[in-house]
Amino acid sequence: MSAPPPAALPVLAEADVVVIGAGPGGFAAALRAAREGMSVVVVEKYDMPGGVHTSGLQGAVNKGVGGIHSELMERFDREGAIYTATEKELPGWAGNPLSHYDWYLPPGSAFSRSSFNPDAAGNILSRMLEEAGVQVFYGAAFADVTLEDHGGQRSIREAVIATASGRQAIRGKVFIDGSGTAEVVARAGAPFVRGGGRQPQSVRQDGASRPIPGGLLWIMSAVDFSRVWDYQQRENDPLLGKLIAKARAAGDIPEDLYRPRLEDEGVYGKQYIGHPTLDLSPAQGPGTFILWQNVPYEWALHMDDDAEHAARAARELRRLIQAEAFFLGKYVPGFENAFIVHVGRYVGVRDGRHPLGEYVFSIEDAREERRFADAVTAPMTKTFFWDEYRKYRFEVPYRCFLPRTIDNLLLTGASLSFTFETIFMVMRNFPWCTQTGEIAGFAAAESLRLGIKPKQYEWRKPLF
Ligand SMILES: Cc1cc2nc3c(=O)[nH]c(=O)nc-3n(C[C@H](O)[C@H](O)[C@H](O)COP(=O)(O)OP(=O)(O)OC[C@H]3O[C@@H](n4cnc5c(N)ncnc54)[C@H](O)[C@@H]3O)c2cc1C
Repeated sequence: MSAPPPAALPVLAEADVVVIGAGPGGFAAALRAAREGMSVVVVEKYDMPGGVHTSGLQGAVNKGVGGIHSELMERFDREGAIYTATEKELPGWAGNPLSHYDWYLPPGSAFSRSSFNPDAAGNILSRMLEEAGVQVFYGAAFADVTLEDHGGQRSIREAVIATASGRQAIRGKVFIDGSGTAEVVARAGAPFVRGGGRQPQSVRQDGASRPIPGGLLWIMSAVDFSRVWDYQQRENDPLLGKLIAKARAAGDIPEDLYRPRLEDEGVYGKQYIGHPTLDLSPAQGPGTFILWQNVPYEWALHMDDDAEHAARAARELRRLIQAEAFFLGKYVPGFENAFIVHVGRYVGVRDGRHPLGEYVFSIEDAREERRFADAVTAPMTKTFFWDEYRKYRFEVPYRCFLPRTIDNLLLTGASLSFTFETIFMVMRNFPWCTQTGEIAGFAAAESLRLGIKPKQYEWRKPLF
């Protein structure tokens, strides 16, 4: 006897466009679709839009790239949410090896480093959705989909979500995966490959495939950076190695938490490995800095699709943060009075699921600078980090927004159908996630206006 069909869930809302996740991609998709006249519902796990850039504390400001991204940068600025540090407040910052972004500048040179306050930005994003008439369910976790089958292709009928009221359904005509980790793709049974990008030499030898580590960002206040710099110069200790050695000898850095930096491994060694590693950037106001705490590479955690991994990352990264704050306060001049003011709401995933869409953009597309009839953007020139920092001029085809086997789902942000080396450090950054979000929102609205599925929509000219 077959099992009885599951009872239908109560329907919480119904809309033209349902967006799962309100990171830069989902936020911009929802806003654009609403501005195109569609009814829009957003499901967001945390308490504000912005994803990694608000809930995850990653407030780096980039020059506006047009559309909603430029609007955001202007609005953050107008509402006093942007803080800019220059060589006047932080002499000794440019070229400092402790600086997450500015270590490569000529030492002592002029610089300007801007960041937005994640909570102030989250409030602005939230108001913008409200102004556009988007209905947002915060504190609501997307869990599953119900599907309709029609000969080879399937459509999503409902998103199943878990809220304070229990499990409920949201019905929609078009769905947009703004989860940042292609969660809707996975639940809908559409194909993807699992994260496991290029490995640094030291961990490559065992042949195991590990994702590029995710990270938890945190913020410390009351840091006197001029004293850190004095110390670095006076003791000729640019990376604080002497202080780390002293703390280890005194048993103040637990041996199971200690990890040396891998100096020869480019971005991996400099930024993604090592503990304690003072890796910071000015944020929010004088004396306040954002710090990075990355998952140790060899833990090989997949926080996006393994509950135990996600729990371990949350638990142990907090332990690393506590140990690092203790080391800084006790050993590093300038940190004596510093304290933790904020830890991100979640450990961000850098290399999660990569959906396989109707077109998978690959490094060969970039190298050969291929042109596409369905390009959504005019050719853009970007540095391809995984291809020895070469610059290519490339276009993004609309088919990268269309997951295989589902006809009413659009991809965006970090979940586009791009190979690992083309999404990482190229398309998954804040400005481009906002741009591809806007493209997804526009495509949803256009196909609804034409009474067709996004998969049938013929994209004809770039939006940006
Ligand atoms: C540690 C770290 C540092 C980074 N540093 C930079 C940087 O310096 N500059 C830069 O430009 N980019 C940086 N990035 C990359 C960039 O932040 C991401 O690629 C970008 O935020 C992806 O945008 P998104 O909208 O696709 O997803 P996300 O920003 O990940 O947003 C996804 C949203 O979906 C929500 N969500 C997820 N699952 C569910 C669910 N089941 N139910 C409901 N809601 C859900 C989340 O709460 C979140 O709000 C960094 C990323 C990480 C992880």
